Amino acid sequence: MSVKLTNVLTNIDAGFCSFCGACIAICPTHVGSKNLDYIPEKSADKPIVKDSQACERCRHTLCMQICPQINIPTGLFNVDTYSYREAYYSRSTMHEVLSRAQDGGTTTTLLLTALRVGFVDYAIILKRDDEWYPRPMVTQSESEVVDAASSKYIFSPVLAALYDIMDRINVGRVAVVGIPCQLRALENIRRLEFKHNSTIALKIGLFCMHSFTRDRMELILKELGTTFKDVVKMNIKKGKLWFTLRDGKMLDYPLKKAEKGLRPACKQCPELFSPYANVNVGSIGAEENWNSLLIMDSKGKELVERATEMKLLEIKPMNGSGIETIGKFVNRKIDDALKHRELYTKEFQNILLVTPTKRGRKLSEILEYRSGRGIYLSPL
Ligand SMILES: Cc1cc2nc3c(=O)[nH]c(=O)nc-3n(C[C@H](O)[C@H](O)[C@H](O)COP(=O)(O)OP(=O)(O)OC[C@H]3O[C@@H](n4cnc5c(N)ncnc54)[C@H](O)[C@@H]3O)c2cc1C
Ligand code: SF4
Ligand code: SF4
Ligand code: SF4
Repeated sequence: MSVKLTNVLTNIDAGFCSFCGACIAICPTHVGSKNLDYIPEKSADKPIVKDSQACERCRHTLCMQICPQINIPTGLFNVDTYSYREAYYSRSTMHEVLSRAQDGGTTTTLLLTALRVGFVDYAIILKRDDEWYPRPMVTQSESEVVDAASSKYIFSPVLAALYDIMDRINVGRVAVVGIPCQLRALENIRRLEFKHNSTIALKIGLFCMHSFTRDRMELILKELGTTFKDVVKMNIKKGKLWFTLRDGKMLDYPLKKAEKGLRPACKQCPELFSPYANVNVGSIGAEENWNSLLIMDSKGKELVERATEMKLLEIKPMNGSGIETIGKFVNRKIDDALKHRELYTKEFQNILLVTPTKRGRKLSEILEYRSGRGIYLSPL
């Protein structure tokens, strides 16, 4: 029997949630408090639905319209979509960044550059606590941006931080760092004419093959005889998950084994990097402690130019083998996604059906109605 996905609840239950956090920010039913929330101690890997009956009655189902796992534009399954303007290897020149960064610290350096030259006023970043619970936040502080460096290979509701800017009048311009599904959600929101579209002034994409639930990581660490509290860094290299512990010891775990617990969300995701970003940063194809950097548009180019002029970032052109490696991974991701998507469409009736449409009203009008009148269920 095939299952009909009707709202965010059924979507989550079916495993099609990569916990981007967009629905937490956008659900229009909240009155003072949100109907969706992120409460790490209660549920670390998916939004918490406060009132499921409200969802049953909800006529917007905006959560479904903006969800990056329900709405995957078909173009993203086409290799030609993944074109970029220029490709480089890059590395930060800033010691404090390099000492904390995941790879070459390009992402953190570009964020710092954007804040310093006034491209943006705020950055949405992802910090974590000692237990590796993700802590998305909006900040203007350079030290917070540096503190947030390094990758959390754990589903993290980065876009929930949008909620903090939605009801402000003059929020200024914001930079968002995100993996492809998070930037896909932002794009779905943009297509609905989000009133803060112009607020999102810079999108820095991160490459992503997959991510893990926190529960899965916890089990892996248990198997390795350690806990989150002891881990200072995670990495994925050479077919293994690597954990650096407080005492400097390194533990590794086979990636193939870890991947057994992947969510359908990741299996059906076609994007290695985001065509919606201004620049994309990864490590595939780059030497140790360097990044692969793809410039996607003129804004991304200007940002990289400013960072190099200010001598915050060094770059060198990517060689043919780097470009080829990235191309191989782009193809692999699309092929895998197509295979899984075919399987899932048999199982779930409307997975390919919902596309963001205005349905008679702009998202901004719905949200304004929500905050202005403070009532549940504005008419579409
Ligand atoms: C879940 C995940 C999977 C990835 N998979 C791959 C891969 O398969 N191949 C590859 O080449 N690269 C992958 N990356 C990217 C890689 O890990 C580095 O983030 C990238 O190379 C940038 O390095 P950096 O030194 O410039 O980052 P840094 O300067 O250390 O900055 C990292 C930035 O990423 C943000 N961040 C950390 N975790 C998350 C998260 N979960 N969601 C959103 N933002 C986050 C931080 O806020 C910070 O701003 C992945 C990243 C993530 C988060
Ligand atoms: S993927 Fe994002 S928008 Fe979709 S249900 Fe999960 S948190 Fe919500
Ligand atoms: S109330 Fe509506 S928009 Fe909010 S989560 Fe439920 S179905 Fe989605
Ligand atoms: S593989 Fe796709 S869905 Fe999964 S975490 Fe990465 S970007 Fe998100």
